[in-house]
Amino acid sequence: MPFGAALDNRWDDARAATLGPAELLVYRSHLLGGDRQITNFGGGNTSAKLVEQEPLSGARVNVLWVKGSGGDLAEITLDGFATLYMDKLLELPRLYRGAADEDAMVGYYAHCAFNLNPRAASIDTPLHALVSYAHVDHMHPDAVIAIAASSDGRALTSQIYGNEIGWLPWIRPGFELGLQLQQFARENPAARGVILESHGLFTWGNTSKQCYSTTIEVINRAIRWLSAHSNKGGGLAPEIIALLSPARRKHIAAVVMPRIRGLISATGYKVGHFDDGPAVLEFVGSRAFSHLAALGTACPDHFLRTKIRPLALPFDASAEDEQALIARLPAAIDAYRRDYAAYYERCRRDASPPMRDPDAVIYLVPGVGMFSFAGDKTAARIASEFYINAIHIMRESSRVSTYRPLEEQAAFDIEYWLLEEAKLKRMPARKALAGRIALITGGAGGIGLASARRLLDDGACVVLTDIDQSPLDEAVDQLQAQYGKDSSVGLWSDVTDEAAIGALFRDAACHFGGIDICVSNAGIASAAAIEETSLAIWRHNMDILSTGYFLVSRECVRLMNAQDIGGSIVFIGSKNALVASPGAAAYCTAKASELHLARCLALECAPAGIRVNVVNPDAVLRGSRIWQGEWAEQRARQNHTTPDKLEEVYRNRSLLKRSVYPEDIAEAVAFLASDRAAKSTGNIINVDAGNAAAFTR
Ligand code: NAD
Repeated sequence: MPFGAALDNRWDDARAATLGPAELLVYRSHLLGGDRQITNFGGGNTSAKLVEQEPLSGARVNVLWVKGSGGDLAEITLDGFATLYMDKLLELPRLYRGAADEDAMVGYYAHCAFNLNPRAASIDTPLHALVSYAHVDHMHPDAVIAIAASSDGRALTSQIYGNEIGWLPWIRPGFELGLQLQQFARENPAARGVILESHGLFTWGNTSKQCYSTTIEVINRAIRWLSAHSNKGGGLAPEIIALLSPARRKHIAAVVMPRIRGLISATGYKVGHFDDGPAVLEFVGSRAFSHLAALGTACPDHFLRTKIRPLALPFDASAEDEQALIARLPAAIDAYRRDYAAYYERCRRDASPPMRDPDAVIYLVPGVGMFSFAGDKTAARIASEFYINAIHIMRESSRVSTYRPLEEQAAFDIEYWLLEEAKLKRMPARKALAGRIALITGGAGGIGLASARRLLDDGACVVLTDIDQSPLDEAVDQLQAQYGKDSSVGLWSDVTDEAAIGALFRDAACHFGGIDICVSNAGIASAAAIEETSLAIWRHNMDILSTGYFLVSRECVRLMNAQDIGGSIVFIGSKNALVASPGAAAYCTAKASELHLARCLALECAPAGIRVNVVNPDAVLRGSRIWQGEWAEQRARQNHTTPDKLEEVYRNRSLLKRSVYPEDIAEAVAFLASDRAAKSTGNIINVDAGNAAAFTR
């Protein structure tokens, strides 16, 4: 499977003519960063040397605009760029004491900041500053890295590009590399860029358009050359295993991911991601798989996210089932940890930071696909995307040459670089529920959606499920707009349908890797005098509020037991679970059944560390879809008022004379879901502004 078609040059002269010099840099960055064939997420940087007015003297000065530390080119804005005085940057070589001290140079960049720009300059800054061309792109295109990571990469570069594109042997990005690029560009005026061994591409030009066009052209030459040489044998070699159906792969993922998650979450909860796309399946099913996977990834950007090596799990899809795979997990995970610790010990230097989490990020299973696990969903997804980049590189490089990853010590020096460690230390502290996965039934409704927001505020990711598809879609759209695409997923389900609930938990396990928190909240309300209560009404209440809660919690406990790291189940009960209410026997009885189910589960699941608690709301009118229909009319009649006065009636009825909102219920949910309630199970929290009849005794 060679690379796709060549890239289009998407430069639009008419559009560019409307932009100022700095905006043109943003435009170019978006064109480049928006195509993952050109550079990976967060990877690469762009720069322009522009003339600016000095704020104090008004003099015209040369300023380097260069992508600052962090962020992604696809979405960069002007304030994502660091701006630095060129004359100060060009003084820095005088202060440079040699490669052993190059990290100290980073401290000088802040002294070069133009116009008090607070954006931190990245370690790649000298790579742009010291090349004399006005515009510089640094990209990580898979096609070029495939050449950069080939054992004869230098010869291939000269074969493909002649002397238009040079070659620099591997060296960690930093001041020394900046000086080497400067020297290369000076000594090779005909060159338009350089391939950096095991790393990526540098290209330059006198205008933004020229620089962009060169970048595209250089990548296209690599793509075309690789395609033309794709019949030379080598590569991944033919498939050696039977391909499983998509449904079977997903089933295995749903069963295996929670097991892996449970085994690797001791050092902190992790979220999973599953990919079984064609590139992954071809790789894990190839003869070269074990050999290439063991060699490790090449580009530093990749292995900082994926770790150098994945955990390749042996599995014969044609002869074994998932139980065989599950049985192998503990020993395989343990062996990976020991290997990682040995790598750390082999390569550590005196000043190296302590060893980090020794668990694998990438898990590869022949016939099934790739699981990735990281501290949050975005990191897990990006790690998986980066490993796919690595697969492209290994595949293409092996097709035309011999794939040669970075030497182990060089990779370690990047992974445990003190500057990298400082970056990690600057990261904000993890939120209380970071890495936790919550599933909320009835999530399209008032209390369900408020609970989702509250858990997301604390860093959890959320599976929202509901029987009503369109409000569910709307709710998930709102959550994703506020918390990001990776934060949540909407999955339809009917809590009364055994098969649907089984599928719901499997899909959730496949999507995030498991479940830690289950908020069983789906509900209805109904009212009728006992003589008017039809069997259908009775069954409807019992089906949703009793049987539905049973089905959801049974499936949840199965999944939590498979993970074996405990969990928290929260039932949304009702004041009516404790207090009888006239004219609502079916609802009250079903809610009482729900409450007792929670007590039974609390008892039975405590040995597994699974806590089960109940929140009892009362009279939560705002946002609740229950209160939009017949129930409100009926309750208004019962209270001799109209539906619009009901909130006031309930407020006045409460001991505290306060209205209860969905956010109040969500607060209790968040408490019970969190470790703050680690020692509470079988409990009830009433959130009803005070109701003496509901006092628990
Ligand atoms: P809501 O109607 O806004 O939300 C309930 C959601 O459950 C709805 O989106 C609905 O589509 C969904 N649902 C219904 N049947 C389902 C099924 N079979 N499968 C999956 N989803 C289903 O109501 P709310 O006020 O947010 O209520 C949430 C929970 O709180 C319910 O269990 C309710 O009994 C309980 N409660 C609410 C109040 C209140 O005053 N709002 C008081 C006491 C208890």
